[in-house]
Amino acid sequence: MSSQIHDTSHITYQSLLEGNKQFIADTLKEDPNYFEKLANGQKPPVLWIGCADSRVPANQITNTSPGEIFVHRNIANMVIHSDMNMLSVLDYAVNVLKVKHVIVTGHYGCGGVIAAMSNQQFGLIDNWLRHIKDVYRLHAEELDAIADEQERTNRLVEFNVIENVYNLCKTSIVQNAWKNGQQLGVHGWVYSLSTGLINDMKVSTLNNENMDEVFKFK
Ligand SMILES: [Zn+2]
Repeated sequence: MSSQIHDTSHITYQSLLEGNKQFIADTLKEDPNYFEKLANGQKPPVLWIGCADSRVPANQITNTSPGEIFVHRNIANMVIHSDMNMLSVLDYAVNVLKVKHVIVTGHYGCGGVIAAMSNQQFGLIDNWLRHIKDVYRLHAEELDAIADEQERTNRLVEFNVIENVYNLCKTSIVQNAWKNGQQLGVHGWVYSLSTGLINDMKVSTLNNENMDEVFKFK
């Protein structure tokens, strides 16, 4: 296996602007009305909550196009219930765009999760990563029993996605949508950087029936 990483040395400030012109030319060749149609509005059926990692772009890995997925990304695809940015995106997606699915997508080898597993200080981000350490604590028994470090990291990536799916379900935004009869599925996926495959965590949730009583809103 090659240990080379993707070469980005050809990317410059100027090359991005030139790339934009190329994108326009290529796109118009395919569909002369492309921009006109997209400019008229959006009706994406999916909200994607993913990691900021440059290797996990929502559209490419699901073979979708601009206009088809509403996207929120942060370090380690977290759903923190006091994060106004995430909540604003979620509220708009659920209540205005009326998306049918919200998908939390993590990825194996996530730098945020690896950092959270270490005892090193990284600065401000330690406060963000603390939420992942809390997920570790919930599953410490199973995780501590995994001898292989990479395997342990990948399992925590999965637990983190699952926990963030539950965090989404607990929000008043999602619970109110369900209460109002809105069709809304909340799902958890983990993407493999080494194969390109998405691993469905099979935690899809369509109502608050199985939620701990204390989190349920009437
Ligand atoms: Zn990541």
